[in-house]
Amino acid sequence: MRWNRSNYVEEHEEIRRWIQGRAQDLCEWCTAPNHVFGFHNKEGDFYLAPGPGPVPSAEDSPGYVAKKIILTMAHLDQDTRNNDPENLAFLCQRCHLNHDRPHNLVKIGEARDRRHNQMRLF
Ligand SMILES: [Zn+2]
Repeated sequence: MRWNRSNYVEEHEEIRRWIQGRAQDLCEWCTAPNHVFGFHNKEGDFYLAPGPGPVPSAEDSPGYVAKKIILTMAHLDQDTRNNDPENLAFLCQRCHLNHDRPHNLVKIGEARDRRHNQMRLF
């Protein structure tokens, strides 16, 4: 989903930095470090890419492509104004997207329904 600054409290950046410190710049669910290249296996375990390049050798990680890990702050209940520390997690793209997937599918369905209903008016 698109990031919209107006959906967040004014102190968002300060809160994000605090959560980043709490997490010690690691994904709080899979322990992937921020700003490194690596990959997840099917079970979700994280592995650093060997060497400096973004793509690990096929023998080190068959079937997996390394990506740069970018950690972001997630609101676990999807309420971007609920900044209770228990509701926040510092997550990698994979963990964040997996957590948000059910919510995003509902939003996509609602948008599709709105479009479908609009089309019925004409
Ligand atoms: Zn993760």
